[in-house]
Amino acid sequence: MEKLISGYLFPEINKRKKALLEMNPKAKIISLGIGNTTQPLTSHVVSALKEASVAMGTKEGYSGYGDEQGLPALRKKISETLYNGTIGADEVFISDGAKCDIGRLQLMFGHDVSIAVQDPSYPVYVDGSVIIGATGKSKDGQFEKIHYMKCLPENDFFPKLEKKTDLIYFCSPNNPTGAASTREQLNELVEFARKNNSIIIFDAAYSEFIKDKKIPKTIFDIEGAKDVAIEVNSFSKTAGFTGVRLGWCIVPKGLKYSDGSPVINDWNRIMTTVFNGASNIVQKAGLAILDKKGWKETKKLIDYYMKNAEIIKKGLDEMGIENYGGVNAPYVWARFPGKKSWDVFSEMLDNAHVVTTPGSGFGPAGEGFIRFSSFGNKEDTIEAMKRVKEIKIMKK
Ligand code: PLP
Repeated sequence: MEKLISGYLFPEINKRKKALLEMNPKAKIISLGIGNTTQPLTSHVVSALKEASVAMGTKEGYSGYGDEQGLPALRKKISETLYNGTIGADEVFISDGAKCDIGRLQLMFGHDVSIAVQDPSYPVYVDGSVIIGATGKSKDGQFEKIHYMKCLPENDFFPKLEKKTDLIYFCSPNNPTGAASTREQLNELVEFARKNNSIIIFDAAYSEFIKDKKIPKTIFDIEGAKDVAIEVNSFSKTAGFTGVRLGWCIVPKGLKYSDGSPVINDWNRIMTTVFNGASNIVQKAGLAILDKKGWKETKKLIDYYMKNAEIIKKGLDEMGIENYGGVNAPYVWARFPGKKSWDVFSEMLDNAHVVTTPGSGFGPAGEGFIRFSSFGNKEDTIEAMKRVKEIKIMKK
C-alpha cells in the first residue's frame, strides 16, 4: 500500500476544485473530468428493476444467494447477443463490474507475474498490481517490474510489442486516449501473446461506443484469441450502470497456463471464494438491457454521449488544438505541446472553471495531454467548450 503513488489523480483534482471554490465561491464549475455517467437509466431498464424489486417482496418471487457465476439466463443472453454464440454461456461470469473483476484477476494471478500495460492507461491495472505486490520498486513514477508500452499519436496509439511478459493489460477503446485498435492491430497483439505465452487481459468497457463497423468490439473476434485472452466488460458506461453495478468476464475454456491447466477452473474458484454473485435484481435489469426494446434505448443513451464527444472535438478543432479519440470512444484526448498536463488543467479550471483530467495521471506518456470526458450533460458540454474557447488557452 505504501508503494502506491500518493496524490492519486481524482483526490488531487478535487483538492484543486475545492481551492478554487474557496477563492471564488460563486464559480459555476463544469466537470468534463471523471468518466462518471450523468443521464438517467432508460425506462425499460427502470421497469425491469421495479418489477424485480417487487418480486423480491413476494413469497414466490423471493430469491437469496444465486449461482456465483451469475443468472444462467443472463450468461446465455450475453453469450448470444454480444458474442453471437461464439462464447459459451459457461465461459461468461457475471459480476459487479469490470474494475472489481480486474481486482479479482490480479488476486488470481498473484504477485509472481511480469506485466505490460499501455501507457497511458486506466490506472487500476498498475495500482491493483502494486497492491498485490507484483510491481517492484518505483522510480520517477514508474515501477521496475512493469513494462510500459507507449501509446502516442506517433504510433497510432498502438504500442511496439517487444517485451515478453506473463500478462498484457490492453484496453480498446482506450481510456484515456479514446483510441480503438483496428483488426490488424489486434491480430498483431494476439499473435504476439500466442508466440510468447502471454495472457491478454482485454478491457472492453467502452466497446459499445465503437461506431466503425470494421473495428472489433471484442478480442474474441480475433482468430486465436480464445487461447490467450480474458475479456472484462460491463454495463457501466454502455447503460449508465456506474452506480447500479453489473459486469462480466469471459474466460475461455481453451485458455491454459503453461503447465496445461485451464485458467477457467481457477477463475471459478476465485469467483466462488471471494464473490457471492451480482445482485439478483440488477441481473434482471441486465436481461432487460439486452432485449430488443432495452437495446434500442441503450443505443440512444450512447448516441447522446457521443454527441457530446462531437461537441468537444469540434470545439478543440476550432481552437486549433490537436486532439484524438471521441469517434469510437467517449473520451477526447487533447495535446498541448510544450505544456505540462497539470498546468493546462489548472489553466482551464482557474480561468474557465472547467474540470478536465490531466493526462499525466494515466501514465508517463500522458504528459502534455488532457482528457475530456463526454459523459456530462449536453448543455454543460456546450457551455464548457465556449468558456475554454474564450480563455484562448493555446495563445498563452
Ligand atoms: N475499465 C475501464 C477502462 C474504465 O475506464 C472503467 C471505469 O471508468 C472501468 C473499467 C470500471 O468499470 P466498472 O464500473 O464496470 O467497474
